[in-house]
Parts: sequence; C-alpha cells; structure tokens
Amino acid sequence: MSLPKLRPGDRLVLASHNKGKLAEFQELFEPFGLELISAAELDLPEPEETGTTFAENARIKAHAAAQGAGMLALSDDSGLCVDALNGDPGVYTADWAGVPRNFDHAMKRVEDALQAANATSPAQRRAYFNATLCLAHPDGRDVLYVGKCDGMLVWPPRGENGHGYDPVFMPDGYDITFGQMPAEMKHSWSRGNQGLSHRARAFAQFVEHQIER
Ligand code: IMP
Repeated sequence: MSLPKLRPGDRLVLASHNKGKLAEFQELFEPFGLELISAAELDLPEPEETGTTFAENARIKAHAAAQGAGMLALSDDSGLCVDALNGDPGVYTADWAGVPRNFDHAMKRVEDALQAANATSPAQRRAYFNATLCLAHPDGRDVLYVGKCDGMLVWPPRGENGHGYDPVFMPDGYDITFGQMPAEMKHSWSRGNQGLSHRARAFAQFVEHQIER
C-alpha cells in the first residue's frame, strides 16, 4: 500500500498520549512544515496494544487515531530485542519497567535474565533496538517504516543521558552507551545519512519516502 506524500501545511495526529514523544516528533517534523497534534489533545482513547509484533502494535495505534480523528495519523512502536532471550523484552519492553515505570528495575531484569541464560561474553549479549512507524489514513490504508540499531548490552549501566534502556545499550562501532552520548549523536540524521538510533533511521526512511521534497 502507499499513501500520497506529505506537503508543508499538512496536519497529522500523533497516536500517542506521551508528551515526551510528542515533543520529539514535533521537533522532527517542524523543518518540513508539518503540523502534529497529539491524540491526547483530541481526547482520543488509547487502544490496547494487543499485537505480538511492533508492526501490529504500530498499526493498532495509528488506525485507532486515524479513525478517531478522521485524519492521517502517525504512530511509533519501539523496543529492545535481546538475542539470548529469544527477542525479549520486544513488544513488552515498556511493560518490563512495571507501573509506574522504573527503568533501573527493567535494566536489572534484562541483566538477570542474561545471567540466568549464562550470556556473559559480548557475542552472547547481542541486542537491537527497533522502531516501527506507521502512517495510517482514515480510509484504512497504511505504510510502515522500520529502523533498527544493532549493538550489545553492558553491565553495569553507564551514563546519565537519554531514557529507558539507554545506559546498557552500546551500539556497534562505539565504545560508549546511548546513555553516555549527547542526544545529537544518538538521534541526528540527514538526507543520505541514516543516523544512528533506530528512531532516527526509521524517521530518515519516512522522510525519504513520505515527505514531498
Ligand atoms: P512504546 O512507547 O510503547 O513504543 O515503548 C517503547 C519502550 O522501549 C519504552 O519502554 C522505551 O523506554 C524503550 N525504548 C525505545 N526506544 C528506546 C531508546 O532509544 N532508548 C532506550 N529505551 C528505548
């Protein structure tokens, strides 16, 4: 499926009630003259993320927002997949942080699971972050853009920057974690340079294919 390219002045709803995510995406979209409204602003209900893949959950969120708002909607579903844990926590990455979210606890839970699996060498501690963006039209069409970032998990956590699992994730080609990087190093990208983080890579794809030059 495909959707027409977006042009300056187009408005879309971000299928998220998370203020941090809204701010991050507004910043990404601003240079393209695209207006992003949050699902919270429109009082849209948050659908249950019942999918077993990032794509399914991204689709659930984007279609619910597109239907509810009657306009184009963008969603993002992301998470950490650990090879030695058969891809866990995967779509349950946020859930591993409990309620209310505690990422120190979540990182420890991943580490405990790695220890239980005897995954001690760097080669046994491979992981990747995935970010899946879904743009959905109220008529039911949608498109997906996926970004991945490969790396390995370190222990103990290193660095104070970023969020979530950043302090334990060391991307390939670097000897510091996402938690030790300035935000620009993690997120920056430009046309022709896909960037480092999974989200930057997914967004670079989105811009390449979905935004009118
Ligand atoms: P979502 O918002 O439902 O897609 O959940 C994504 C989960 O993955 C959250 O718990 C985030 O903390 C985690 N996550 C996604 N991207 C990153 C990242 O770049 N660094 C650290 N954690 C991340």
